[in-house]
Formats: sequence, C-alpha cells, structure tokens
Amino acid sequence: MYSESLVKLGKVRSEIREIFEYANKRKAEIGADKVFDFSIGNPSVPAPETVNNAVIDLVQNFDSVALHGYTSAQGDAKVRQSISDYINQRFGTKLTANHIYMTCGAASSLTIVLNAIMLPQEECIVFTPYFPEYGVFLERTGAKLVPVESEEKTFQIDIERLKKAITEKTKAVIINSPNNPSGVVYSVETIQKMCALLKEKEKEYGHSIFVITDEPYRELVYDDVEVPYIINYYDNTFVCYSYSKALSLPGERIGYIAVSPSMECEEDAYAAICGAGRALGYVCASSMYQRVIEKCLDDTADISIYKRNRDLLYNSLKDMGYQCVYPDGAFYLFVKAMCEDAHEFCEKAKEFELLLVPADSFGTPGYVRVSYCVQTKQIEDALGAFKKLAECYQ
Ligand code: PLP
Repeated sequence: MYSESLVKLGKVRSEIREIFEYANKRKAEIGADKVFDFSIGNPSVPAPETVNNAVIDLVQNFDSVALHGYTSAQGDAKVRQSISDYINQRFGTKLTANHIYMTCGAASSLTIVLNAIMLPQEECIVFTPYFPEYGVFLERTGAKLVPVESEEKTFQIDIERLKKAITEKTKAVIINSPNNPSGVVYSVETIQKMCALLKEKEKEYGHSIFVITDEPYRELVYDDVEVPYIINYYDNTFVCYSYSKALSLPGERIGYIAVSPSMECEEDAYAAICGAGRALGYVCASSMYQRVIEKCLDDTADISIYKRNRDLLYNSLKDMGYQCVYPDGAFYLFVKAMCEDAHEFCEKAKEFELLLVPADSFGTPGYVRVSYCVQTKQIEDALGAFKKLAECYQ
C-alpha cells in the first residue's frame, strides 16, 4: 500500500538520532548532568545578537503581510542579490541573484542539486568519512553512491583512489569541508589536485562531472585556516550553503544553493535547480528568515567556544592515549576506537555514561565521532569517563 522503501526509512532512525534518543532517555532516568552526550551536532552557542535584532526590527518595521507572505519560488530577489554581492566581495566571484536559490538548509540544497543532475544508474562519488544522509538523498534519484576512502591519518582526499573510482558513469562528486565527522579542512593543494583530475576526466569522457560542495561548516574554522572557495577552482560547481551552524539557526531551516556562473549551460543549470525545487516542493524558503540572514551576512555565532572545546578535548584525549584526527574546523572530533569494532567501543563507553557515535554509517569503521558543540563544563566533567574508558583497553 505504501512505498516499502520509505516505510523502512521512516521506521529506522539514523544511528546519530538513535543515540540522541537514548541520551534523552538516560538524562530523564539519572539526571542530565550525569550523562555525557556527545551524539548530535546541534549548535550549543546562541545565535548572535544581530539575528535577534534583525528579527525584532523586521517584526516592528517591515510590512507584515510581505514579511510572512510568499517570496518568489527561488527566494526574494533583493535577498538573493545581497547574497551574491556578499559572496563576490568575499571570494572575488561573479555571481548574480540568478545564481542563487534560497533553500531550507543544506539538506534541501543537496536534495535539490542531486535531483537536478543525477539520473538513474549514474554515479556520485563521496569521500569517507561522509555524512550518512547522502546515501538517503541519492537513493531517491536512482543514482549510485560510490564511496572513496580518504588518505589514512590526514583524511584528505586520496587522489589516486579517486582516479581509480571515476568511471564513464561518474556524474558528480560531493565534498564536505570542514568535514563532518573528521573536522578536516581540505587544503588548497588537495582541491587543486582534485579539480585538475576532474577536468581531465571530463575531457576523457566528454561530459560534465559536477562538484557539489556541502558547506554548513564553512564558517567554523579555527586558527585562520583557509577553506578554498570551490567556484574559484572548478567551473561545474554547485555550492550548498546553510546558516544552521554558522548562525546557530538549525531549527529555522535557511540556506541557499549557489550555481557557478561558469557552469556548463549555466542558464539550464539554474533552471534545473528551480525545476527540482519545484518538483520537490522546496519553493519559497522561510520568508522572514531570508530577510533575517540578509541583515547578518557578515556575522557568525561565537565560535571561540568551539575552539576552546576543541583544544580541551583534543589535547586531553591525546594525553590519555587516544588516536585523534586534528580538527581544523566543524565541531567534531574523530577518534580511533580502542578495539576493532566501534559499536562495541561505544557500548563500553555507555557504561561510563559517555555517548559517542560509531562511524560505520559514515563509511569509516573503527572510528567514533565525538560532537563537541556542548557546554565546556560537559567536556571537563566527562574527562574522567574518557580516562576510565581508555583504561579498559590499556
Ligand atoms: N551536511 C552535513 C555534512 C551536515 O553535517 C548537516 C547537518 O548536520 C547537513 C548537511 C544538513 O544541514 P542543514 O541543517 O543545513 O540542513
């Protein structure tokens, strides 16, 4: 009676959600302060004051009917113009309002782009570890997800492995930097090599290979690390941007797609985005929040708190003997499990009320993800539990 695959999808929670629900249950049982929940990537830093001021100003001074009314399907023209101006000024690009499509966050940006470009049986490459929802988004298009293992230790893109994975059916490559869950930022050198290879393969196969860059964590980088702007390196690029983490607004559902002005058949590319948005019912992203973010384009949440958490967690865990990937960005620490099976390791951690996510569903068995977008006190309080966990394996 119903779509079997969707019933299944609706019944099975993601591993992250599963642990998050367990954390809530456990908090109700023994008290929130006794549970060290490092499961979900929900920002713990409030939205900046500029967001609150923008909301108040709009409610008090903007025409109320327009504020809560429909905008154009692709988003308000003035907002899209402001976003393209901002990107151009920051990255030296040549975007116009007609390269921007407003969405309700990176998740819908990704589904729109994937539906716009992927045909059944075509292949989309992702790099391990990768956001597990990519698989869910891609399945609906009938295309195939092709995971490519990243370099050991650095977790940068492994160019040789990428070369071997590209086939005639390769239509797109998704990159996510800063990365969830590794925290790694792809270097300029990595991006240059990847783009050179993709251009070579486009020529060899005689068709476009698109780069989809999933960027909810672009603003969350520490110590002045550069996050290359892919449109400046590769023509056939779609940027999937989101304000969920940058402005701590995940529940407001606001983001955009930027289509490279140098994209092959650029007008059709934007039309396909508009068409996919329409077909999926993703038209007119939150009218009020389009206007809110227009007033906050140059702002971010206070990420110094995440940096403090990163330093505390990384240094402490290293001292305890954990093998961790050094995260330049996002708010996740990627840690090697101290036994072969990361699930078993996370079950052991539960004995100390330590809730970690096994990275098997991210395509990297043997690792766990620790979300450090929590109060710093939670990390301080949890260090004893991390130590006890390590001692079980020493
Ligand atoms: N992509 C990655 C890598 C993410 O980690 C997330 C959310 O955590 C998303 C996309 C979805 O973000 P949004 O809230 O903007 O839909």
